[in-house]
Amino acid sequence: MPLKIAIIGAGPSGFYTADALLRRSSECLVDIIEALPTPYGLIRGGVAPDHQSTKLVSRFFAKIAGNARVTYFGNVSVGRDVALDRLRRLYDAVVIAVGATEDRPLGVPGADLPGVYGSGDFVGWYNGHPDYRDLNPDLEVSSAVIIGNGNVAIDIARILAKSEAEMAESDLAAHAATAIHRAPLEDIYIVGRRGPSDSKFTNKELSELGELAQAAPLVDPGQLPEQLTGEMTDHERLLREKNLATFRDFAVPRPAGALKRVHFLFHAQPLAVSGTERVTSVRLERTRVEAGRALGTGEVLEISCGLILSAIGYRMRPFIGLELDRQSGVLANQDGRIEQGLYAVGWARRGPSGVIGTNKEDGEIAAQSITAEVTDQGRPGGTGLRQVLEEGGARPVSFDDWLKIDGAEIAAATGKAPRRKFARVQDMLDAIER
Ligand code: NAP
Repeated sequence: MPLKIAIIGAGPSGFYTADALLRRSSECLVDIIEALPTPYGLIRGGVAPDHQSTKLVSRFFAKIAGNARVTYFGNVSVGRDVALDRLRRLYDAVVIAVGATEDRPLGVPGADLPGVYGSGDFVGWYNGHPDYRDLNPDLEVSSAVIIGNGNVAIDIARILAKSEAEMAESDLAAHAATAIHRAPLEDIYIVGRRGPSDSKFTNKELSELGELAQAAPLVDPGQLPEQLTGEMTDHERLLREKNLATFRDFAVPRPAGALKRVHFLFHAQPLAVSGTERVTSVRLERTRVEAGRALGTGEVLEISCGLILSAIGYRMRPFIGLELDRQSGVLANQDGRIEQGLYAVGWARRGPSGVIGTNKEDGEIAAQSITAEVTDQGRPGGTGLRQVLEEGGARPVSFDDWLKIDGAEIAAATGKAPRRKFARVQDMLDAIER
């Protein structure tokens, strides 16, 4: 009998693992179980809506899903519709590919005031993820502060700064487009606790901010170092030099008249969020960097703002009783192996780092362990899962069902947009029945 493997999560790490398993074992059967009706995880719900070329990888994932040895079980939540223990008894191996979706807490007084959002929630909202459909952030503000110097911070700044025309070819969720494009935003601050050369922006993403139609990036030249200092590899030096060159370009005064300004503010860490009913400002402390760490100097500055977006990385949500490594905040694992028969891949294995393609290696590692140490135990696999779901009254969504949702979204698109996303699970399920 073929090996039967369940992968929990239909994002990039789940699909790359399925691909690696199919290639390594000519017989195995792979079932991909996803809590949402829609597949592709971060490709749909995380990648910026104006980065459509990054989303093209979903065509490769669709081919994997179309393999006769792969079955997609969308709208099935492990924990709600089937217990993990039950799943482990149904399959020879289970792979956890659920990502790291919880925002790391900002951890300063006032961070729970209305008007402060984690990037995971905010990005999910503008990408039409059903869990965040009702976030309804109040964008009737003139100034927003984004904390963090990674690509997520850049994504958020760009989405807030672009004009409606610039977003025309995107799949920005309709509810978010309405709110963003009528927002009176004028100033967007991107705040880094370390210096410009310590930022984690990739140069392509950073440079994009210099090409916007109605917004100008601004950097205080006094915050830019003359040259790089400290130990680093040649590769790292090259990347940092590139970013510094872009910041120098941003520091050259631009012709006045931009509707929006994106200010980079370095060497500043959040101390507190101020406001009574909602955020009115953020208090920051100037820092200096010692041995790669930001240390407070005691000097304080305050920025008035009605919106704070904290883009300081993610951690895993507790996943149905499995132990998280206390330091890394992801599933305790050894090279992706939690224990025999149970594996983790992607951000659930190694934390929120890297790009989409980084997940390929995770898939290979997991597939190698599984094919080396798991033997067929005559488990029922998908047949058993179907029975459990039926008994529990769940409504699994097949890949053909997803193609109907996909078709309905594409058909509903207006202008140059690639699709108009459904942002509610019920709307997705209704589209299948039409
Ligand atoms: P990230 O790259 O790890 O950046 C997190 C930023 O938050 C860092 O600047 C970090 O500063 C800062 N930070 C952390 N804790 C903080 C605190 N308490 N106070 C102030 N600042 C704090 O994370 P990310 O932006 O969430 O991105 C996650 C991954 O997705 C990355 O690998 C990223 O490249 C990838 N991604 C890629 C793209 C793309 O390729 N277009 C788009 C989005 C995301 P320190 O450096 O000082 O710790």
